Amino acid sequence: MQINQIVNVDLVKQMNSAVVYKFIDQQGPISRIQISELSQLAPASVTKITRNLLARGLIKEVEQQESTGGRRATSIVAEQKVFRTLLVHLGRQKIVLAIMDLSSKLVKHCAFDFPQTQNLADVEAALLTNISQFLAENEKKNAELIAIGITVSGFINAKNNLIENLPHFSLAQPWDLANRLEKHFNLPTYIGQDVRSLALAEHYFGVTKDCYDSLLLRIHRGVGAGIVINHEVFQGYRNNVGEIGHIQVDPLGKRCLCGNVGCLETVVSNAAIENKMQQMLEDGYQSKWLSLESHDIEAICKASNKNDAVASELIEHVGVQIGRVLAMSVNMFNPEKIVISGEITQAKAILFAAIRKTLESHALPTSVVNTPLVASELENEDVIGAFALIKRALFDGSLLQHLLAEQSAE
Ligand SMILES: [Zn+2]
Repeated sequence: MQINQIVNVDLVKQMNSAVVYKFIDQQGPISRIQISELSQLAPASVTKITRNLLARGLIKEVEQQESTGGRRATSIVAEQKVFRTLLVHLGRQKIVLAIMDLSSKLVKHCAFDFPQTQNLADVEAALLTNISQFLAENEKKNAELIAIGITVSGFINAKNNLIENLPHFSLAQPWDLANRLEKHFNLPTYIGQDVRSLALAEHYFGVTKDCYDSLLLRIHRGVGAGIVINHEVFQGYRNNVGEIGHIQVDPLGKRCLCGNVGCLETVVSNAAIENKMQQMLEDGYQSKWLSLESHDIEAICKASNKNDAVASELIEHVGVQIGRVLAMSVNMFNPEKIVISGEITQAKAILFAAIRKTLESHALPTSVVNTPLVASELENEDVIGAFALIKRALFDGSLLQHLLAEQSAE
């Protein structure tokens, strides 16, 4: 009983510090009185917590003119430039490394091909070497690296942080990458599936900031979704929710990576669209803007924006297929907002009209009539999800606790 009480006191302290830090990060400059009012914590508690955060350098005081009178009030903002994060994205073909400061400003970015080997130890060794070199090249005096965020295009077990599956690399057993990096670099490390992490980033920094729940559909090399419910990414007991790209839309369609046929991904991924356009051009469809040499996704979107008939027809077909799958999702959980992310949103005019029309005829009218459909405006889409995982650890108190504990141990 006694032990439980001690644990609970620590947890409450951690939670309170996190609440205060989050208000300062998201609403700063903010005064201690305002924090106390918003958080409903006693002024004395706020003073104590801010003292600890100040001592660690995580926040700083700024003088601010009170709008009602001449008296200057001391406000607090989060310190963002000094603290840096290392971000790693394991994509289907590329590995991306980046450094961001806590304001989500990209400091450095590099990408290299996924090592051409089927030996996991070799992949891991190459990754460690590349990261070490990247960090050494970009070291900066007075800047502190505080955490690593990793996103993976594959399956992650959220309970033990193991990578269970990668689309282009067969794992004999789950890969303990997060733990290995944490030990090697002696930094707290957070790992997540890439689209689910992107949905979290969209909620922290993007167009779903104001939403209680939302659905993000990401169309890139693959197709996936991230669902935010009650301000948190829906993870599920068995993980790997939101595999919307593997809902069948064409029973006589192409074979998918997952083994089934005609999945949404085989029709609307960037490669699927480019291949379909290639086939249409080979079949003699005429386009003023596209040719067998130049018909990548960006060119197709541009042509569609110029009302090119072939490009517009293909984008419309893609929009209808997306709309059909989104309609099922809307009927299932009725999100406040739907966000589409990916290169294809450059053809927004025709794409969104087709999605909207299909949604309206396939989903419950009451669910869909007031549901905004918007394009993601996030920058650094390849690594912003990994950054969001680190922000989440600051906001839930776990990373904050680690940083504060380091200080008291010194
Ligand atoms: Zn599939």
